[in-house]
Amino acid sequence: MSFYYTEEQELFRKSLQDFLKKEILPNIDQWEEERQTPRFAWQKFGDMGFLGVDVSEEYGGSGLDFGYHAIMAEELGKTRSGGFGAAIMGHVSLAMVYLERFAGHEIKQKYLPKSCTGEWIGCLAVTEPHAGSDVAGIQTKAVRDGDYYIINGSKTFITNGVYSDYLIVAAKTNPEMKSGGISLIVVDRDTEGVSATKLKKLGWHASDTGEIALQDVRVPVTNLIGDENMGFYYIMQNFALERLVLSLSATTACEDALGYTLQYMNERKAFGRKINKFQVLRHRIAQLATEVERMKIFNHNIVKAYSEGQMVVKECAMAKLMATELSDKVMTECLQCFGGYGFMEEYKIARMFRDSRLGTIGGGTSEIMCEIIAKMVMDDVNY
Ligand SMILES: Cc1cc2nc3c(=O)[nH]c(=O)nc-3n(C[C@H](O)[C@H](O)[C@H](O)COP(=O)(O)OP(=O)(O)OC[C@H]3O[C@@H](n4cnc5c(N)ncnc54)[C@H](O)[C@@H]3O)c2cc1C
Repeated sequence: MSFYYTEEQELFRKSLQDFLKKEILPNIDQWEEERQTPRFAWQKFGDMGFLGVDVSEEYGGSGLDFGYHAIMAEELGKTRSGGFGAAIMGHVSLAMVYLERFAGHEIKQKYLPKSCTGEWIGCLAVTEPHAGSDVAGIQTKAVRDGDYYIINGSKTFITNGVYSDYLIVAAKTNPEMKSGGISLIVVDRDTEGVSATKLKKLGWHASDTGEIALQDVRVPVTNLIGDENMGFYYIMQNFALERLVLSLSATTACEDALGYTLQYMNERKAFGRKINKFQVLRHRIAQLATEVERMKIFNHNIVKAYSEGQMVVKECAMAKLMATELSDKVMTECLQCFGGYGFMEEYKIARMFRDSRLGTIGGGTSEIMCEIIAKMVMDDVNY
């Protein structure tokens, strides 16, 4: 039990768990093989009201607090498919959050209700082939032409980048200003000049990661999210949430991996004994379980502070840094306990190991987390 979550939130968790067990988990292996989460998965999530938990009721959501969003991240961390979790949370925590927090009424009215039902899927397109960590260095331009923006540029590594219905594109509206000249614009997938290529990757197989070309894409200026040239600040603000979500999922993935490994250790014998009797392995599990427990408490502290509206940029960077690095360590050590079977696809620890590897890269690398934390604790910088 967590000190933070309420009884109602735990009931929500239970219904989400039941839903995942019945509707999602039996299909995950197939979706991993097919390298794609099918559309009906979002729609099923939408039917259950899970996609819009913290979206206001006016726009089709349930108007609940961030704790429910956090529970989604935690439960998706336990599906043993980083790609599936990314596909759903890429829509909820990246695309939808920008609409809910920063867009005006008309955009919200157009995009949020269908995003809540899962009829429309969104993605966030910030990263470019020559600018990932350095968000201010993006080159995609949106040039004003009367009541339209003409967008030109390319994006890469975009989660839901191939099959989504709309893209939230970061583009320079004032190339002279560095970070201050970026805006966020919603672009419909079927707009002329938008094309996408699916990338082959090490893990996250159930999620489509796309490279996107934007060639003379003509979008009404009313598709601007919030104010012109404020995109960088919106992205920085939402990074805290994205990093917290990644930390929550990474931590529950660790818990799940430990449970799975203990089960295996209780079945596997070597030298006439169950392998869970070997002290070296017992101590390894004890160390990892301790670190995971500590991580959970830190996460829940931040969820509480975030829900109360406190500024937690530093804490979210710290959590993301610690949880994703811990996940790499837990997956490596757990896989080791499976011996040769850990290397086989038949055992999900192989997938969990490779999916974990994205954690220290996506949503800002560990090095960038350290940069942020160092500036905040050493140079008195505030974000
Ligand atoms: C599967 C996947 C899904 C993704 N989904 C999305 C998405 O939905 N939307 C989106 O916009 N992006 C997405 N990304 C992009 C992701 O956010 C970037 O890959 C990440 O921010 C790193 O950028 P980069 O790949 O350009 O690496 P680079 O910025 O080129 O970094 C390369 C190396 O240099 C280090 N480095 C860079 N700058 C510094 C510095 N100042 N100090 C110390 N070290 C530094 C980095 O830590 C890294 O080790 C995704 C990426 C992947 C792989």
